[in-house]
Amino acid sequence: MKFGTKTIHAGQKADPTTGAIMTPIYQTSTYIQNKPGDHKGYEYSRTANPTRTALENNLAALENGKFGLCFGSGLAAVDSIIKLLSPGDEVISTNDLYGGTYRIFTKVFEGLGIKFHFTGMDNIDKISSLVNENTKMVWAETPTNPMLNIIDIQALSNISKENNLILVVDNTFATPYLQTPLDLGADIVMHSLTKYMGGHSDVVMGAAICNDEKLAEKLYFLQNSCGAVPGPQDSFLVLRGIKTLHVRMQRHCENGKIIAEFLQKNPKVNNVYWPGFENHTNHDIAKKQMNDYGGMISFDIVGNKLEDAVTVVSNTHFFTLAESLGGVESLIGHPASMTHAAIPKEERERTGVVDSLIRLSVGIEDVDDLVSDLKQAIDKV
Ligand SMILES: *Cc1c(COP(=O)(O)O)cnc(C)c1O
Repeated sequence: MKFGTKTIHAGQKADPTTGAIMTPIYQTSTYIQNKPGDHKGYEYSRTANPTRTALENNLAALENGKFGLCFGSGLAAVDSIIKLLSPGDEVISTNDLYGGTYRIFTKVFEGLGIKFHFTGMDNIDKISSLVNENTKMVWAETPTNPMLNIIDIQALSNISKENNLILVVDNTFATPYLQTPLDLGADIVMHSLTKYMGGHSDVVMGAAICNDEKLAEKLYFLQNSCGAVPGPQDSFLVLRGIKTLHVRMQRHCENGKIIAEFLQKNPKVNNVYWPGFENHTNHDIAKKQMNDYGGMISFDIVGNKLEDAVTVVSNTHFFTLAESLGGVESLIGHPASMTHAAIPKEERERTGVVDSLIRLSVGIEDVDDLVSDLKQAIDKV
């Protein structure tokens, strides 16, 4: 099955009792047992629920993995993945990381005895120098948020395998339409399904996908033991959203390219960060590991004044000022005061998140409307 067919069919069959084409919302907590232990594979909905199972199998198929697990949010997926570790263990992570992931690493898990090293992952030697006998995991996000750096997943996988480390890739920004990290040697793919996968800004959910049976068993144990599972209604919504993932992503990429090029030509715009540009620092890696370049773009304003960024983000009409990304509608954000406010100023500026940086999640509206919307807002600076 090819990708666009998988989005619609993988993991799902017509309901055996009624023939319903869409997987029903199995709004039930428990399941009948004829004799103790004699059931149809479902005992209790924290452990498993048929609507969730369909989504989990669909996700596994899209990521070319064997096992898919859903969680109540992207951060609940992060939580369970880090719980594979024990106190004293160390993790090497991307430095320009999603703010919430940075927060759970440093404010929750550091307190429980896990140590995190944050580094730019463009230089593999830097990663090697951080590995010691306690290192157990490498955590990467690519493209990174909000700087749109691209990390070489294959190179990370090589160094992870050499040192027996679990490589986790947060694939939220790319989605399996653009890249499949398991094929490049990652051990676990993590998602915030809240973003492109759900795609309609109407649900919060997360996932982990892997190929290794032992790793999957541990994750299932954590999913069931910690209990941060999504309900059947939300699972249905994400399943439905994924049916158009390939069509939406194609348009996100087309619109993204046009807007990135418009920004690059605008005299009030300083840097434009979009991996599709040939002069983007990591364009070669993007070209090698991604099918296209996506609809996430960041840029800063000439003069780097915070108030200029505020002027732009407060004056767009189709780009809505809001947290989050990946929905059908275009969003605009100011990382320094919104998504990345939890990261100390020196640390955020070191990674490029300057005061005037603006992040766009380009939606799938008519691109002419989006371009003129941005133009009139930037003209106000
Ligand atoms: C949103 C996001 C998360 C967290 O997911 P939630 O569903 O909001 O809990 C993690 N990583 C990335 C890259 C994200 O964009």
